[in-house]
Amino acid sequence: MLQLFYSITKFIPYDCYQDVFSINYNKLYEDGKRIILMDIDNTLIPYDQDLPSPKIKDFIEKLKKIGFKIILFSNNGYNRVSKFSEACSLPFINNAVKPFGKGYRKALKLAKSNNLSEYIGIGDQLMTDVLGGNRFGIEVILVRPLKKRSEKWYTKINRINERHVLRKLKNSHSEIYKKIEGIYL
Ligand SMILES: [Mg+2]
Repeated sequence: MLQLFYSITKFIPYDCYQDVFSINYNKLYEDGKRIILMDIDNTLIPYDQDLPSPKIKDFIEKLKKIGFKIILFSNNGYNRVSKFSEACSLPFINNAVKPFGKGYRKALKLAKSNNLSEYIGIGDQLMTDVLGGNRFGIEVILVRPLKKRSEKWYTKINRINERHVLRKLKNSHSEIYKKIEGIYL
């Protein structure tokens, strides 16, 4: 099982929110965050949609106005990710292979910054978004997945591993566990 290879602390998100809209982005900016590595599937849109809603487009414009550089950062393939990204006029990394380092290294080049403290990840999965960011040294905000039932088979496997991680967290880090429980369970 994946989680046995990593310390349980690698699964601890920076914070947890019900959705991407609830995050205090002005505070993140004040805290020195400048670059957002934003997951797409089940974070911005469910799997059964392929384009951003007007609400998502407005939201992205709002983030740009605050001063953030946004990179859409997805494990999904080129066709889906490029179509969505073009509709948002944002740069993207597809096949990011979260939780592994390859995509993060690409992101550093794309954003032209090696200062990891400027980055914040946002995503809906402990096993890819949170673990990947923490392994690389980038903090990650966890959000509630938009639609659990539409998840792909490999995401369902991650969800099984996730339950093991959550049981461990419940024993060792009960405060953050309660936060995650509030959005996940
Ligand atoms: Mg996702």
